[in-house]
Amino acid sequence: MKKIDEFEGNFAWMSNFSDHSFRDEDGVLWRTVEHYYQAMKTINMVDRGRIWSISTPGQAKRIGQEVALRDNWDDLKFDFMTNGVMLKFLQNKGIAELLDSTKGYSLIEGNWWHDNIWGDCNCPKCENKPGKNWLGKILMLIREGFSNE
Ligand SMILES: [Zn+2]
Repeated sequence: MKKIDEFEGNFAWMSNFSDHSFRDEDGVLWRTVEHYYQAMKTINMVDRGRIWSISTPGQAKRIGQEVALRDNWDDLKFDFMTNGVMLKFLQNKGIAELLDSTKGYSLIEGNWWHDNIWGDCNCPKCENKPGKNWLGKILMLIREGFSNE
């Protein structure tokens, strides 16, 4: 199967860092999926607010590494990620069409930062670790949902 294995350059819109804002179920406007995902890690509203208001997704990620995790985050994180990515594509028609146009391609979040949960790290150290590629899988699920509409 043909594949797209880097969410950069022409495919940067697939990344959670991409500049596509969306509103969640409570009407809160998030700058990026990364902001939303990092904020959902905690139920501390002050920390959530810090993440919400910070300008870049990289900064949001850094704050997210310091917050007190909510109960069962490891079980919940897949649902929040799926929800954030879904809302992003539902509310940004242009990239929803782009996603649809990748039909027939396997989507793999190749990376160099040792993320083998959401993606698949390409560094020599991780060579023999299969990446679970959950972000790629979520994108492919959403793509399938769109084409069934
Ligand atoms: Zn690695």
